[in-house]
Amino acid sequence: GVRRLMRMRAAAVEFNGELASTGTIQDITDDRRQQQAIADAEHKYRALFQNSVTGMFQSHPDGRLLQANDALARILGYADAAALKSGISHMRQMYARSEDRERMIATLVRDGRVDGAVFMARQHEGSEVAVEISAHTVFGSDGKVLYIEGSAQDITARRVAEKALQQSEARYRTLVEHSQVGVYLMLDDHYTYVNQAFAEMFGYEESELIGADFRVLVPTESIDQQEDRYQQRRAGEPNIGGDYSVVLARKDASRIEVVVSAGNVEMDGRQCTSGTIRDVTEQRRGQRQLEYNASHDLLTGLPNRLFFEQELAHTIAAAHASGSSDYAVLFLDLDGFKLVNDSLGHASGDLLLIQIAGSLRADLGQRVLVARYGGDEFTLLPQGACSRARAEQLAQRVLTLLGGSFEINGHRVFSGASLGVVLGHADYQTPDQVLRDADTAMYRAKASGKSAYVIFDEAMHAAARARLKIETDLRFALERGEFQIFYQPIVDLHTGGIDGCEALLRWQHPERGLLLPADFLDVASEAGLIVALDWWVLEQTCRNLLRWQRRYPGHAKLRASVNMDERQFADRNVIETLRGVLKRTGIDPSTLALEITETIFRGGRTEAEATLNALKDLGVSLVVDDFGTGYSSLDSFATSPFDVLKVDRSFVRDMVTNPRHGAIVHTIAGFAELLGLGLIAEGVENRAQADLLFDVGCERGQGYLYSPPVSQEAFERMLEQGLPLSATQLKGAVA
Ligand code: C2E
Ligand code: CA
Ligand code: CA
Repeated sequence: GVRRLMRMRAAAVEFNGELASTGTIQDITDDRRQQQAIADAEHKYRALFQNSVTGMFQSHPDGRLLQANDALARILGYADAAALKSGISHMRQMYARSEDRERMIATLVRDGRVDGAVFMARQHEGSEVAVEISAHTVFGSDGKVLYIEGSAQDITARRVAEKALQQSEARYRTLVEHSQVGVYLMLDDHYTYVNQAFAEMFGYEESELIGADFRVLVPTESIDQQEDRYQQRRAGEPNIGGDYSVVLARKDASRIEVVVSAGNVEMDGRQCTSGTIRDVTEQRRGQRQLEYNASHDLLTGLPNRLFFEQELAHTIAAAHASGSSDYAVLFLDLDGFKLVNDSLGHASGDLLLIQIAGSLRADLGQRVLVARYGGDEFTLLPQGACSRARAEQLAQRVLTLLGGSFEINGHRVFSGASLGVVLGHADYQTPDQVLRDADTAMYRAKASGKSAYVIFDEAMHAAARARLKIETDLRFALERGEFQIFYQPIVDLHTGGIDGCEALLRWQHPERGLLLPADFLDVASEAGLIVALDWWVLEQTCRNLLRWQRRYPGHAKLRASVNMDERQFADRNVIETLRGVLKRTGIDPSTLALEITETIFRGGRTEAEATLNALKDLGVSLVVDDFGTGYSSLDSFATSPFDVLKVDRSFVRDMVTNPRHGAIVHTIAGFAELLGLGLIAEGVENRAQADLLFDVGCERGQGYLYSPPVSQEAFERMLEQGLPLSATQLKGAVA
C-alpha cells in the first residue's frame, strides 16, 4: 500500500497490427526527496543569508557583486539587497579608500582569506562607515577562483565606544599622571606604575621606580614593620590596607612622612595593590610645632605649666600603681625678679628668665624635668625615683646655681630663689594638690628669709589636709544650714543708742563648733563659694532688717552693714542681683550699707568706679572697710561715691597709747569731714578710745566696748532693751 512517485514515458506503437502503447516507468521517489531536501536546504540557507544581521556577499574575481543580503545593503545605506545589487556594479565602489581594497585582495591572493580586516566603506549617500570584513576565496574543480564570499559588520558603534573608552582612559591617565597625589600600582613587591608626583616625592625619575622593589623606599629602621604589613596584605588580611601613615626614605636618604591609602585590586586577573600617597611632612611638622607651642613656654623654650602638670599626673598615677610614692616636686620662685623687672625693664627681665632657664637645663639636663610654671616660677620634677636626700641635694644645687650672678645687658644681676619641695605621698591624687603644697612650702621659704628651700612637712601636710576638709565641708554647709549670721551693734556716739549693725558670718561646724570667718573665709574664697555665701548673708540680713524696722519702735531707721567680697563686687551680675534682692525683700535701700575694701581697685579703678556708681544708683550706702590699711591713693576714695569710711581697728587699738596712730585717726577724721563722708570706728574696746574718737568727731563706733557680734536672738533682745547701761555711758552723750 505504499505509494511511490513514478516517472512514466509512453508511446503508441503498432503491435501485431493493433494499437498498443509502450513505455518506461521510473521510480523517482528517492530522487524527488533528495531534490526537495536540497531545495529546503537552499531555502534555509537563503533565508539565513537574507535575514542575517551580518552583511554577506559573494563577489566575482572580476569585481561583480554576485550576491548580497539585506544586512549588507543596510550597512552600505541601501534599502535592500536588490537595491544594493543594482547600485553597485563593481566591488571597488564599496571602498572609501582604494588602498583598502588592494590590501584586502593582496591578502586574499596570498592567504586565500582575510579575517577581521577593517576598512572604511562608502555608503550609498556618500558617508563612511567602519566595516570589519572576513572573506575567503572559493575555487572551482578546475582550480580557478569561482567567487569570493564573505561577511561584513558595521563596527562604527563599536569604534565609538572604543574611542570613548580610550578618551576616558586618557583622561584618567592625565588625571593620575598630573595628580599632586602620588599614585602607584604594585604587583607583588614591585611597582608596576608610579605617577610623576610619586616619583618626585621620593626624588626619583618615574622610570627608576617602575619595576623597583618597594623596599627601596623603606628606611632601615622600619623595614620589619613594613615587611609585616606587606606579608599580611599578601595573605589577604582584610584589615590591612586602608589608611596608614608611615615614614619613608627619599633617594637622598632623607625621610618623609606620608599617609598611604592602599587597597587590593584585580588587574588582568592578577592581584595588585593600588594606592595613593600624600606627603604630610610639612603638615605634621606644623602639627608638632603647634603641639610644641601648646606645651612649651615661648620665651625660654622650657616645657610649660600644662606640660608639667601632665607629666606630674603621669608620675602620680604611676606612683599609685606601683604603691611607692618616691617622687618629688620642687617649686622655685625667683626672689629678685621683680626688682630686675622694675629697675632694668621687662626686656631685661625676659633675658634673666632665659638665662636662668638655660642654666637650669644645662645643669640638670635629662635627669630633671624643668618647666616654666609661670612668671618667675619654675617647677622641677626629678626623673626616676627621688628620695628625700636626692630632692634636698637637688634643691641645694638649684640654690647654688641661682645664687650666682647673671650678666644682663652689661649689668651683673643677682636673683636668688626660694624653693618649696614636696615629697610624694599616697594622699596626692592630682597635680594641683602637689603643686599647691609645693607653693605653700615655697612661701615658707620666702618668709624664712629667702634663698632657701623648705620641705613640705607633716605639719604643713596636716594643715593642708584640714584645709581640704574645710573645703569639702564648706560645700555642704550652706545647704545643711550650718551658717549663721551674727550681728554686731554699731553705736551712735552722740546718743549711745544702737544706730545699726554689721552682719558677720559664722559657721556652726558640726564637729568643730562655732567658726569665725578667719577659719574658713580664705578657703571659701579659693573654692569659689564666697559669692554665693555673701548673697545669702545679704538677703537674710535685708529680711531681718525690714522685720526689725517694723517690729521695734525707735528703730524704724535702723541700718545694717553687710560685707561685700571683692569677688562678689567683680561678679558681672552684681547690680542685677542686688536689684533683685532689694526688690524681693522690699527694704529701704538707704538703710543698707555695703562694706567694701579697697581691694576692689586692684582690677582697675575705672571699672571699680563704674560698679560703685551703679551700686550707688540703687540707693544703697557704700562704706570703705578697713580704711587706712591699703595702698590706694586718697584720690580713689575722694572721687568714688563712698558715703562712709570705716577706720580700721588696727589704728583704733592703740590710738590712745601710740601717738602716731592717734594722729592717723585724727587725720582720717579730718579727711572724712572735708569730703563730707561719715566715719565709723571699729574695734572700740574701751572708754578711752571711745572718748578720743568722739573728740575727733567720729560719729559712730563698733566694738567689744558696746557688744561683740552676737546671735540674731541676742541682737533682737538688744534692740528691744537697749545696750547694757555701762556701754552707753559716754562722754558727751545726751542722756
Ligand atoms: P571686718 O569687716 O573688719 O569685721 C570686723 C571684725 O572685727 C569682726 O571679726 C568682728 O568680730 C571684729 N571685732 C569687732 N569688734 C571688735 C573689737 O572690739 N575688738 C576686736 N579685736 N575685734 C573686733 P569677724 O567677725 O571675725 O570677721 C572678720 C572679717 O571677716 C571681717 O572683718 C570681714 O572682713 C570678714 N567677714 C565677716 N563676715 C563676712 C561676710 O558675710 N562676707 C564677707 N565677704 N566677709 C565677711
Ligand atoms: Ca566689715
Ligand atoms: Ca573692718
